Amino acid sequence: MELTAAEVWTRVLSAARASLPEQSYRTWLAGSSAIALTDDELLVECASEFHVEWIEDRYGAMLSELAGRLLGRELRLSFRPGDPEPAASVPAVEVAAPTLPTKGGPSLARERPSGINERYTFERFVVGNNNQLASAACHAVAREPARMYNPLFLYGGVGLGKTHLMHAIANAILATRPETRVSYVPSERFTNELVTSIQAGTTPDFRRRYRQMDLLLVDDIHFLEGKERTQEEFFHTFNALYDARKQIILTSDRPPKELPGLEERLISRFEWGLVADIKPPDYETRVAILRKKAEEDSLFLDPEVIDFIARSCTNSVRELEGAVIKLLAYSSLTNQEITVDLAQTSLLSSGGVIGGVGEPLGPERVSETVASRWKVTSDGLSSKRRTKDLTVPRQVAMYLIRDLLDLPLAQIGKLFGGRDHSTVIHSIRKVEDAMGGDPDFRREVESVREELRKPF
Ligand code: ADP
Ligand code: MG
Repeated sequence: MELTAAEVWTRVLSAARASLPEQSYRTWLAGSSAIALTDDELLVECASEFHVEWIEDRYGAMLSELAGRLLGRELRLSFRPGDPEPAASVPAVEVAAPTLPTKGGPSLARERPSGINERYTFERFVVGNNNQLASAACHAVAREPARMYNPLFLYGGVGLGKTHLMHAIANAILATRPETRVSYVPSERFTNELVTSIQAGTTPDFRRRYRQMDLLLVDDIHFLEGKERTQEEFFHTFNALYDARKQIILTSDRPPKELPGLEERLISRFEWGLVADIKPPDYETRVAILRKKAEEDSLFLDPEVIDFIARSCTNSVRELEGAVIKLLAYSSLTNQEITVDLAQTSLLSSGGVIGGVGEPLGPERVSETVASRWKVTSDGLSSKRRTKDLTVPRQVAMYLIRDLLDLPLAQIGKLFGGRDHSTVIHSIRKVEDAMGGDPDFRREVESVREELRKPF
């Protein structure tokens, strides 16, 4: 009997669990779920983009092999984050029933069953002083679309939950009225689609697609500033929907009045309904959000660790989430328990606690930074070539990767032309010795280290 996607993945996971440290399994794989299965591909959704990269890098080969053995045929595994940013080229998706790809259809990885992220629900959204009005308005719109607040205009800084809330409305409406025609479109995509449709002479199709919606979500409308042709088009779409009593939800990084690059007639329409802001979360809300995230991902985070992260990451919810992911990565890499000390190390390593956690530091960036200092290429560093101009920076890169990321020696060797772990040890010693004996060299290495500590 054919197994379903979920059955295949569950079995692959339990096999993987047996051969991985429990901490790594829980951090990286436990939260994943299978979305679809065709003859030769299994699509798996993971907690974040970062998880996807991590899993592909470290566990991809092992997981495919396990899956292949289980099914007795080759199976390609595709991973994608559960929080898909719709690609610019994908047309607006109507979300009636999610359509699962059929066998032999196009590659699963490119398939977007829905423009709405199912993880962005009201249940997963923590209400605090910072977002109370916005959240209440969203609930009201979800209960009675196009009645009270039309349009609903949410604004606030990056990573504060605007996109989440707008999807939550759509999810709530679809749960009770699955036939609702919904379209989620980031403004950038709206613009790109318009341009493409003008080039292809298909503007009428473009218009029809949006004007037949019951619920239109337009994200990051500030992107339309200065784009007159797109604004014109959006103005007519807005009017068509509004006149037909369809709900429109908009988000922006600023209130309508502070969008000077938008036409006056759009700004005034945006103010017809309700304008609600979202502010950065206060300490209590940050703690509540961290607790909720931990609970959702079945993670145990000590109250002290939660307190530390909540005090350290003050700007946005995205930053909080990044800090947790980073901490898990550290804990998993170094096989250490999650403690306040570890949280401190992991947050500091990306450039200081206060002020934000940037992209997690990876070996590629170390290699690139070193390469650019020594005026060579990072391809050169990862090659097998042994010319003097490459040897020194290659040793420095190995030293810094070991020092900053604590990667296993064998893994570092692999990154640099497949060298074995004793070569890596030798390289690291060479750097340490040289730093001891040559102050200029030492300063150079230290300054690269400093640069890498800054957020990216
Ligand atoms: P924005 O669109 O304002 O830039 P997002 O909606 O993308 O922000 O939110 C960033 C991340 O933070 C998302 O993963 C989202 O789920 C999460 N998030 C934001 N606010 C909250 C909240 N109040 N409760 C739980 N998660 C939140
Ligand atoms: Mg957003």
